[in-house]
This record gives sequence, structure tokens and C-alpha cells, in this order.
Amino acid sequence: MITTQLRTPPRSSDNEERSVNISPTISVSLVVPVYNEAETVGLFLDRVDRVVADKPVVQLEVVFVNDGSSDATLDRLLEYQRRDSRLRVVDLSRNFGKEAALTTGMRIAKGQVVVPIDVDLQDPPELILEMIEQWREGYDVVLARRVVRDTDSWAKRLSAGWFYRVHNWIAEPVIPENVGDFRLMDRTVVEALNELPESRRFMKGLFAWVGFRTTFVDYVRPERAAGSTKFNSWRLWNFALEGLTSFSTFSLRIWTYLGSMMALASFLYASFIILRVLLFGVDTPGYASLLVTITFLGGLQLMGIGIIGEYLGRTYLEAKRRPVSLVRHIYEPKE
Ligand code: UDP
Ligand code: MG
Repeated sequence: MITTQLRTPPRSSDNEERSVNISPTISVSLVVPVYNEAETVGLFLDRVDRVVADKPVVQLEVVFVNDGSSDATLDRLLEYQRRDSRLRVVDLSRNFGKEAALTTGMRIAKGQVVVPIDVDLQDPPELILEMIEQWREGYDVVLARRVVRDTDSWAKRLSAGWFYRVHNWIAEPVIPENVGDFRLMDRTVVEALNELPESRRFMKGLFAWVGFRTTFVDYVRPERAAGSTKFNSWRLWNFALEGLTSFSTFSLRIWTYLGSMMALASFLYASFIILRVLLFGVDTPGYASLLVTITFLGGLQLMGIGIIGEYLGRTYLEAKRRPVSLVRHIYEPKE
């Protein structure tokens, strides 16, 4: 079931601008990061073809970003490109990760609207038509929102739930829950994203940060069409850390308050001991409490240093000002 829900209705002037003054054709860029996806590329293109087949108003451009695949993905893409002049293939010099691949693709895409989409058909291409409808209504961003996460394992659902809870508690802006990278963005939004200078890019956060008038279309996320997921638990954990540190300094600042509380508690405890000695005389037992206090504080301090390390490491890498990715070659279609 696919339903549509509207939020903050757009101004009518935008509405008129898009549906009346601009020609009915719309140029759409799909940005598709691919990493070892030789089995899925063909399935993906077939599905996309079926979606746009009888829609001459949609002028399609498909930007594949080959993220250092070690299988036959690039050969397949170039093979398809020989028959299909809508395909552009960006070949990165190695695997830079999905975030970098997406960023690079979005900088190269030319469409009036840009849609980042996974190649494994977990982001149903049919939804793009609904998104375009919403865009014509005057929205700048149309998010695809999963209504149920049945296809994810319980561990992934649980950890995702916690991630959103913690992130949205400590960070600004709020990331909408159950929304991935699959969305439609107006050119103005894409330009805004392309101008953000950081090289370590947590896309979900950046998408939320730029704002703009946003609405949702709901969908049920299907299983992967073929192949297997490229994100293991360790990669997801690091992805979550990236998210939490990208948009919040809460975990850096919390130590000031924790430290103050500990200092206050130890001051009170010291006063208590002094009073007790004055009233009842010298008393030395307390080995256990001493040891517990020392190890507890030691652990707490190491945690604090670790968190500073997380941020320092990221600042260090960002300070190098390296590009997000390196492009080996852009294969443009032959007209
Ligand atoms: N991907 C990529 N680089 C990577 C990992 C993944 O470009 O290092 C692409 C992958 O080919 C797919 C999309 O990102 O098109 C989503 O990956 P996947 O389906 O493995 O993630 P999941 O859906 O399991 O979160
Ligand atoms: Mg997938």
C-alpha cells in the first residue's frame, strides 16, 4: 500500500511556477551508488524502464557511481550504456563508501530534480512518479518513508530505533525516522547540498540540515532483489558514531556537568569523613570503597578522553581538506 501524506502546504506561487510557467516535461536524475552489484544493475534498469516507459514527460538521466567495485559491475554498466544513452557512469578510483559515492553523483547530476536511489530495488522506482506529483505541488523535498521495517532483522530495527532516539535527543536538526537516502530533491536543494564544504559526509544529517519544504510518501520496503547487503554490524556502528558526532557536541560537553557532579559528590563525602573523624576519632577501614572510587573515576576519565578522541580524530581528518572521493573516469553516453 502506498499512501501520501501532506505537511506544511507550499505557497501557491511556487505551485503555479512549477505547473504553469515551466514546460510539462521534467528532467529527472537518478543517482545510483553501486558497489559489487553486477547482479542487480540489469534488474534495476528493467524496473526503471517499466516505470518511465509511457511517461514522455519524464526525461531521465541515470548517474551510476561505481564505488570501487571488484566484480563485473563496471563492465555491465558500460555494456548497458552502449544501448542506452540515458546512462552516465562515474567510476571512482576505489571504494569510498556510499556517502561519498552519493555526494559525487549529486555533484555530477544535471536534472531539475535529483533522486538518490539504491540499485537493489529496495527503493521502489515506481515511487518516483508519486514524488514528482508532490514536487509539482510545490514541495522541494519529497521523502520516501518506510511504514514497516519487516524486511530488516530485529537487531537492525532495534539498533536503528535507538540510533534515532539518541540522535534526535542530542542533535539538531531532528532526522526523520524511517527515512533513508531515497528522496526527491529540487535543484535548489541539491545546489545547497553541493555547496556544503565538509568532506566527511553523513548524508542523512546533511539532508535534514539543509531543510526546505518537505513532504513524505509512504512505502513498504521490500527485500533486496539480489546480492547481499554491504553494511555489516561494525560498519553500521561506525556509521552511527559518524552521525552522532557530525551534528552534536553533546557528548563532548556532558563531561563538564558529569565532572562538576563528581566533584560536588566528593566534596560532600570529604566533609562527611572530616566530621566523622572529629566526632568519633580516626578510623581507617575503607579499602573497598577506595578501590571502587579509583577504578570508577579512572573508567570515567578514559571514556571522556575516548570521546574527545572521536571528535579530535574527525577534526583531524576534516582539517586535511581532502576531496570526498576521486573520480577515475566519467563515461558519458555516445549520442
Ligand atoms: N553501496 C556503495 N558503496 C558501499 C556500500 C554500498 O555504493 O561501500 C551502495 C550499494 O551498491 C547499494 C546501496 O549503496 O546500491 C545500499 O547498499 P545496501 O543495499 O548494501 O545497504 P542496505 O540496504 O543493506 O542498508
Ligand atoms: Mg539494500
